[in-house]
Amino acid sequence: MLREEEILSILKKTGALLKGHFQLSSGLHSADYIQCALALSFPDYASRLASSLAERFRNEKIGLVIGPAMGGIVLSQEVGRALGARAIFAEREGARLSLRRGFRIEKGERVLVVEDVVTTGSSVRETMETVRGGGGAVVAVGSLVDRSGGKADFGVRWEILIKLELKTYLPEDCPLCKENIPLDKPGSR
Ligand SMILES: [Zn+2]
Repeated sequence: MLREEEILSILKKTGALLKGHFQLSSGLHSADYIQCALALSFPDYASRLASSLAERFRNEKIGLVIGPAMGGIVLSQEVGRALGARAIFAEREGARLSLRRGFRIEKGERVLVVEDVVTTGSSVRETMETVRGGGGAVVAVGSLVDRSGGKADFGVRWEILIKLELKTYLPEDCPLCKENIPLDKPGSR
């Protein structure tokens, strides 16, 4: 199990914690952005972070791990490997997150939903709906980072590797917009 300071150190040394003016995939603005893909681009770190998260679900008999594209893809794969479970991803088809590429969920299958960073939790909630619509049972949610300030709630067990208290703003209230700092839109939506 990685300790919190080890996780923070991985995020820092891989450049996954960025400073600037960002539009998050939730539409909110922030001076801080967490680009977990940079930490996960090192397979050794990806595997260590994912195993650390997977460890908490060791006794849940997870059959399938699923993450929303793009952020959840690598994490799903690595957590699936650690748990000996299948790993798939949900991706946007128009406005909805759906299962494509022949991905299927068995009836009653025990599913773990994973996401790299939770801000509002909307992608996780959509993925949960997709799983339930496909007949699966959402057992729990796992994320590397919670930046929701404890506001996200999925109605199932939720495990987080690290909580980061980073301010977000509605676009109309954003102080960085008021200073005309150029807006970066790194999100994948
Ligand atoms: Zn702004």
